[in-house]
Amino acid sequence: MSDLWTSAEIADATGGAVSAPFAVSGVAFDSREVGAGDLFVAMKGETTDGHKFVDKAFAQGAAGAIVSEPVDYPHVLVADSAAALEALGRASRKRSNAKIIGVTGSVGKTGTKEALFHALERACPGGVHRSVKSYNNHVGVPLSLARMPRDAAYGVFEMGMNHAGELAALTRQVRPNVAIVTAIAPAHIEFFGTEEKIAEAKAEIFEGLEPGGTAVIPYDSPHVATLYGKAERHADHILTFGFSPEADIFVRDTVPAPGGGTLVTAALPGVELCFTVGAPGDHWVSNSLAVLAAVEALGGDLAAAGLALAEMPGLPGRGARRILPVAGGEALLIDESYNANPLSMAATLKQLGREQADRRIAVLGGMRELGSRSTELHAALSQPLSENGVDYAILVGEEMAPLADALGGLVAFDHVPDAASATDLINKEMRAGDAILVKGSNGIGLSRLVAALGDAA
Ligand code: ATP
Ligand code: MG
Repeated sequence: MSDLWTSAEIADATGGAVSAPFAVSGVAFDSREVGAGDLFVAMKGETTDGHKFVDKAFAQGAAGAIVSEPVDYPHVLVADSAAALEALGRASRKRSNAKIIGVTGSVGKTGTKEALFHALERACPGGVHRSVKSYNNHVGVPLSLARMPRDAAYGVFEMGMNHAGELAALTRQVRPNVAIVTAIAPAHIEFFGTEEKIAEAKAEIFEGLEPGGTAVIPYDSPHVATLYGKAERHADHILTFGFSPEADIFVRDTVPAPGGGTLVTAALPGVELCFTVGAPGDHWVSNSLAVLAAVEALGGDLAAAGLALAEMPGLPGRGARRILPVAGGEALLIDESYNANPLSMAATLKQLGREQADRRIAVLGGMRELGSRSTELHAALSQPLSENGVDYAILVGEEMAPLADALGGLVAFDHVPDAASATDLINKEMRAGDAILVKGSNGIGLSRLVAALGDAA
């Protein structure tokens, strides 16, 4: 099927010139992602020039390219490939009749986007398109838009930012019918100074809402007033969600479900719903409420959406659970190695505290991008560590020094320099009946520890 874009449509959208007619079924700018029939967008980055990979892209089956220098393959020649990709994204949005959902927040964007994708597939008839991975920035969003099939009924887009103004630009491309803010936390705070400024920047997502659009807001956030104030100016409908009964969609009751998930009773406008959330922890309950809010706003089948949430496993690096065979029995590994900030640390340590285990172990790496508040926020982890009954902590890397100081006698711990030393230590220490949480910012490399434990198993 080559019906995503014709060269004439690409030229029309981008103002470029067609060398020879072609049609494509997909879009990629990373040559490693190019498949048969795709459009390859050759972009000039700071370190690489995509034009060097044009041969490779066509060897892999590309059907056409967007280039800013002529090449010996069918192409559309433009002045600036990045601007052309953005134009293609806008053209895709313009020609589409899909209902569009934008997802932002400091944490939980990818998890919520994935859960919403599965919920919409079950709860709303028609094809559902989603952005892949965490393609959520000024190139990822236009790429995801440009990939949306002509006849998609729904499109779910993850939208991220590091600086004020970035979401305002992205949301004008995405033009969501429903805009979700999952949660606000001091992620990227080094660029913002205060969490309140982060909330203001996240609220920019509402600026692009279409007429009749719905804003979905985390009620329990300390920044709910900021989010609500902005939503009132741009949204025709607002749905709040949370654990508090004042929220439009709220949790009445939760019971642990087998396998680590949660059985939830939630109140929605005019209806009560019981459903299971497959991924463990209150934070996934919260993300699920945001999913149901979107389904409600789109007029979908809430019960069907609830069924999809039960099937949602923890994603790799974001709550995936694995049983490790160890001498005399098994240990539970909770893989949170992809990402960490104070809010997600608190959420997952709370979950660790609820695990049925002989011993609760937390392997914690540093939280990046906290700027001048780094020392204070790392030291403050002593509270959730001691409150949630953690028996032993392995603190990894230099950023953890303030926590090592703050922990004192509160919780038994070792402080090691890097992920490799942590791997050796955990291999030595791990026993049957342990529940082991592994969490840190991606750059700390704790995913290597998770992989190594897999090898050992
Ligand atoms: P990125 O900015 O890197 O794309 P993201 O916003 O897409 O991140 P996810 O990958 O969905 O976030 O989740 C990252 C981690 O955040 C999870 O592993 C979990 O620890 C935590 N988390 C997810 N949702 C919440 C939430 N609602 N509240 C607190 N923590 C959360
Ligand atoms: Mg993400």
